[in-house]
Amino acid sequence: MQTESILRKNLCSESGGVSPPLAPLYEKLLAVSSSPAETVSLLSEAIRRFDRAYFAEQQPEIPDHDYDRLMKALRELETAFPETRSPDSPTARVGEKLIGGREVVAHRVPMLSIENTYSESELFEYGTRTAKLLSGEKVAWVDELKIDGVAASILYEDGRLTRGITRGDGLTGDDITANVKTIRDVPLRLLGDVPPVLEVRGEIYMPNSELLRLNLIQAEKGEKPFANTRNLTAGSIKQEDPAVCAARGLRFFAHSVGRTEGLGVHTHFDFMEKLRALGFATSPMMKRLPDFPAAVGYAREMIERLHELDFETDGIVLKVDDFGQRQRLGATSKFPRWVIAYKFEKYEAETTVREIRVQVGKTGKVTPVAELDPVEIAGSVVARASLHNADEIARKDIRVGDRVVVEKAGKIIPHIVRAEPEHRPAESAPYRFPDLCPACGTPLEKADGGILIRCPNAACPAQLQRRVEFFASKEAMDIDGLGGKAVTLLIESGLISSIADLYRLKVSDVSGLERMGKKSAENLIAAIEKSKKAGPARLLNALAIRNVGEQTARTLIGEYKSIENLSRASQEELSRLPDIGGVIAENIIDFFGDPENTAMVGQLRECGVETALAEEGTESVQEPQTLAGKTVVVTGTLEHYSRSEAEELIRRHGGKASKSVSKKTDYVLAGTAAGSKLSDARKLGVPVLSEDEFLNLIGSNELPESDEPEPGRLF
Ligand SMILES: [Zn+2]
Repeated sequence: MQTESILRKNLCSESGGVSPPLAPLYEKLLAVSSSPAETVSLLSEAIRRFDRAYFAEQQPEIPDHDYDRLMKALRELETAFPETRSPDSPTARVGEKLIGGREVVAHRVPMLSIENTYSESELFEYGTRTAKLLSGEKVAWVDELKIDGVAASILYEDGRLTRGITRGDGLTGDDITANVKTIRDVPLRLLGDVPPVLEVRGEIYMPNSELLRLNLIQAEKGEKPFANTRNLTAGSIKQEDPAVCAARGLRFFAHSVGRTEGLGVHTHFDFMEKLRALGFATSPMMKRLPDFPAAVGYAREMIERLHELDFETDGIVLKVDDFGQRQRLGATSKFPRWVIAYKFEKYEAETTVREIRVQVGKTGKVTPVAELDPVEIAGSVVARASLHNADEIARKDIRVGDRVVVEKAGKIIPHIVRAEPEHRPAESAPYRFPDLCPACGTPLEKADGGILIRCPNAACPAQLQRRVEFFASKEAMDIDGLGGKAVTLLIESGLISSIADLYRLKVSDVSGLERMGKKSAENLIAAIEKSKKAGPARLLNALAIRNVGEQTARTLIGEYKSIENLSRASQEELSRLPDIGGVIAENIIDFFGDPENTAMVGQLRECGVETALAEEGTESVQEPQTLAGKTVVVTGTLEHYSRSEAEELIRRHGGKASKSVSKKTDYVLAGTAAGSKLSDARKLGVPVLSEDEFLNLIGSNELPESDEPEPGRLF
């Protein structure tokens, strides 16, 4: 039988065996092979499911080569039995060339544009306004990436793709159905429980990796490289020949709902889940948040992770989750009221990677950094960009000598968007991550599922350097005069090989060092001496246990009163504490499980460093308790203190530092560029203090000295 032989030829290897992931499907196909129509239908359905697993769930169920075998079998079956071919077959992505120009079609529900802002205080004003319009109801939000592509609407009737239209002017758009069908992650037929009418809206885009691939082809042909993904997407989707569009590797992310019947969902988040079940790809990092401040907080987090993405974004979209609330909010003449885009200024520049170096952090984490030919981006000169991890270098294939596009988005550290391999010299080779720690020669290890690379040697000089620097920093033990250069001197002269050694230093040891006079030696030793009284919470933070920062350290010391008590706590006990998750508990257990660390705490105590709270139950450096019983919120940029330093001052003076303004707030300490917290304070009649007024109030006239942070040590 012809059906059977086509299946065997394509799905079995030469030795006659079927590839194991395909075995169950192969059996089912053989069982219906007497009917070509049934075979084709079963095979098409299976391919749609594999597509959904690959694109919507991002969990491929079979290897790519097995997928290709299935497609080949389907194509051959359809050629042998033309009557089985359906217009929405997985093989029917590339249709006939369009003759006579593109049709302009009206949107049945207009595609409005959305309000956007570049300022966080305007964003908060929008949140307040929305809450007011909903008379204070609880509002959940969904945060999504704003993809930089071409907006489109795709219509499905009884589960079949019937039309694709560009957004156009919002009222009418171009019919791009034939080209939309070529986009591999747009389902031609929906899976499962299919609504009679479904209009899905989203963004057609091109991955950065696809632009690289196309530009290599352009270079081979001796043609000009394409400039960017957005313009190329717009150009490709309007091609008259679908075969041209198909060759451009476009993708689609679904992000909203148009005209729809019988879907049965009431929130956006559920709608997106439903879309994935039907087979659509949705953008990564999407999350539902319980209230507006949480939504803004998560938006900030997303912006910091932009470097992970293989596509361009120009902002974060915040949407009201509940469809009922959306309806009540309605729209202005221009925008729906239930959505806002928080955009960031994005600047790009091209430059060359001179070198890729690695930096060893205080917990041994090894981070690659690109040294660039200095280039000006938005008014500042950029000469370095973090490459984050080995994975990212491999994924973006960034090499020494490459021309690269560097992006600065918002206040985030610049990152490399993509290389331009078409300019690559012939001798260029992929970057090889070092196998050995450049500081101590120890073989590097993979951690956290292989993404993170660490130097496992606790005595590594680079780690010691970073640990001591951090230990002495303002947020930790606050030892004046012990910056990066001084630490390097102390380590290189052999005076310290552990943190505890700091407390064994004498003026005579230090005064002999390069650029260290008697006076500065005396000052340094006095500062080290003073730090003994910093208290156990600061000390715990200063020990740089992974994931234990200032706040966590305070919680832990509040609970255990001393570092020794904490070191004896069980993992189970720790993970039950509020704000301490399983991961932090594990990090603490790991840290104190190392005898060298417990020995270090013992040595610090013997040297006179306070490792326990004083008997009275409060921290021993007693400041006048001028803020006892008062709650203070810090906002804006202060002149002399960081926000966390100001909060520490509040606590040291007996007050409580809070993050949000309410009727219970006693004071708001406002610096420059204070946003919604300041306006909240004015509304609620909470007294607002300037920095000077605040310092007068707490009775402190000491100001910290400003000093530039030391750059990390590079290898
Ligand atoms: Zn090392």
